[in-house]
Amino acid sequence: MLTIFHSKKDFEASDCRIAVLPVGATEQHGSHLPVGTDTIFAEHFSRRLAEELDAYLLPAIAISSSIEHRKGKGTVYLKSDTLALVLRDIAESLQYSGFTKLIIANFHGGNWIIKPTVRNLNRELGGLQTVLLYAGDVARPRYGEIFNHVQGDIHAGEMETSLMLHLHPEYVSDIKVQKNPVLFPQAYMDYFDVGELTADGYWGFPEEATAEKGSKVIELMLHEGLKYIEELERVTLEVKARHARETGQ
Ligand SMILES: [Zn+2]
Repeated sequence: MLTIFHSKKDFEASDCRIAVLPVGATEQHGSHLPVGTDTIFAEHFSRRLAEELDAYLLPAIAISSSIEHRKGKGTVYLKSDTLALVLRDIAESLQYSGFTKLIIANFHGGNWIIKPTVRNLNRELGGLQTVLLYAGDVARPRYGEIFNHVQGDIHAGEMETSLMLHLHPEYVSDIKVQKNPVLFPQAYMDYFDVGELTADGYWGFPEEATAEKGSKVIELMLHEGLKYIEELERVTLEVKARHARETGQ
């Protein structure tokens, strides 16, 4: 694995062609979790993924599209268009120095803009495949094996609090349990700030979190994440081979 602590000489001696970019956020996570929660998760997950793939682990993007949390003091955000431009420049610079795959390991659900950005980059940048790996998305179909709440546990809830209890219990404070929480559709973040819809900025069931669930979910995310990358690589090679047969190139 390569990191920012390696030198030009190390990079030149390596045939590493895959880069992993952790994308977190700096946003309120209720009274019980730190504002850097998504970044802490993204960095941990990406490090383990980069070790598995012997990839270049990039420093995290720690500020992303958190405008829906702006009412929570401590939240800092990029507007979506800005994030798209940042990602484009990162992809272009990796392509320029010979990388063939960029894995964007996103941990913030509000970063919707990454998807169309990736779709465009994969048409625009020859030679570099940009992959969006949202650990929550690939693992969610199996959340029922671990969590009591698969629906409505969106932000600083059972999943995120469990994962923090596993990775850094020292960062978890007392939960201000909501009596009869009203659960709105997640899409309501398009219209309201989270602080306008929730009593303490969390959205879900943190009171049901345990460290054991956290340890299970990070392993599930890695397992499903690696499966996603491997399957995509298989299909990519197949598509390339078919193209070569059809065009004689
Ligand atoms: Zn979060």
